[in-house]
Amino acid sequence: LDREEPHYFGAGPAILPTSVLQEAAYDLVSYLNEGLGVGEISHRSKPAMQIIDDTKANLAKLLDIPDTHETFFMQGGGTTGFSSIPYNLIANYAKKTGKVGRAAYAVTGSWSKKAAEEAERLGFDVDVVVNTKDIKFSDIPPYSEWKPIAENTSYLFVCDNETVDGNEFNDIPGPEYLPEGVELVADLSSNILSRKVDVSKYGLIMAGAQKNIGLAGLTIYIIKKSLLEQASDADLKALGVPLVPIAYQYPIVVKNNSAYNTIPIFTAHILKLVTGKLLEEGGLAKIQATDEKKASILYAALAKFPEFYILPVKNPRVRSKMNVVFRLPSAELDDQFVKEASAKGLNGLKGHRSVGGIRASMYNAVTLESVELLVKFVEEFGKTHA
Ligand code: PLP
Repeated sequence: LDREEPHYFGAGPAILPTSVLQEAAYDLVSYLNEGLGVGEISHRSKPAMQIIDDTKANLAKLLDIPDTHETFFMQGGGTTGFSSIPYNLIANYAKKTGKVGRAAYAVTGSWSKKAAEEAERLGFDVDVVVNTKDIKFSDIPPYSEWKPIAENTSYLFVCDNETVDGNEFNDIPGPEYLPEGVELVADLSSNILSRKVDVSKYGLIMAGAQKNIGLAGLTIYIIKKSLLEQASDADLKALGVPLVPIAYQYPIVVKNNSAYNTIPIFTAHILKLVTGKLLEEGGLAKIQATDEKKASILYAALAKFPEFYILPVKNPRVRSKMNVVFRLPSAELDDQFVKEASAKGLNGLKGHRSVGGIRASMYNAVTLESVELLVKFVEEFGKTHA
């Protein structure tokens, strides 16, 4: 089984290393001489539990996850991830305080906007503490300009990297903004494992698997263990807090080592192979250096033609290293760029349908060589058309 190495910049699902796909393809047919493929074994069997444990161990090594935190997986993706958060965190707040907690959301792009709207739709008390929609998500204001966190707030939700809009936080709120006891909850769907993060500062990290880690089908959660305590159903009902659907109840999932219901074990196996490969290749320090180089050479090429390649994210400090978003002076030129790039084997560059333009997503499996080819094309196209 072989293929030509793709130069693919799609935003997700993303490409995976060919060697991982080849190994997984073999395992899909025959795994560990069990007479079965990896997707066919019971999700509660020993080999399946081993896959889950190995993936957790790989993630713990890569991200230096402290003992205060637990890693688990659930069926779903980013959307099921952010929908499940208010139920679980507010149930934890009720256990801690006997009160109904509020939820603070930073709206810095399309995904955090969706997450905030969903929490509100589900009936939770939501405070939007910053909203940059009016400036088209072109910057992330400093925390000193955000609304103060209201009393009785359980958590602050941020989307660390906004995949559609191309902005990314370059720090996290410290005690000068976040009152003690308010948990930081972050969606890292599109930048997990692209750089080091201090896991101890987060109450919860959530990420869909299908960009930097693997295939669609699973969401990764890294949660502070103290957040796994939840008020009883009776107490929640008395407070008027909605109950967590059982398959999404974090303590239940953790108690069952991520296999309370049928986990897509083939997807988990891919996560194990990808994280294992990242460790073999030098871990996060190495990945971070490559990802920073990829982003810096592409932004530098775009900056050579400033009136021609228009970057919607105005503040360079918050430009995403994963999803480089830009557009050309006309929609016709955008189309021509995508078409000519594709003729050179550079694919997946069309921007999200909601914003148009161009988007080059450069997740971990996109090689420096692919980005160098894109840089060359950006410069050639600029010279011809700018
Ligand atoms: N959050 C972020 C940052 C995303 O980029 C996406 C999808 O691109 C989602 C959430 C939603 O993910 P899913 O399609 O898995 O629900």
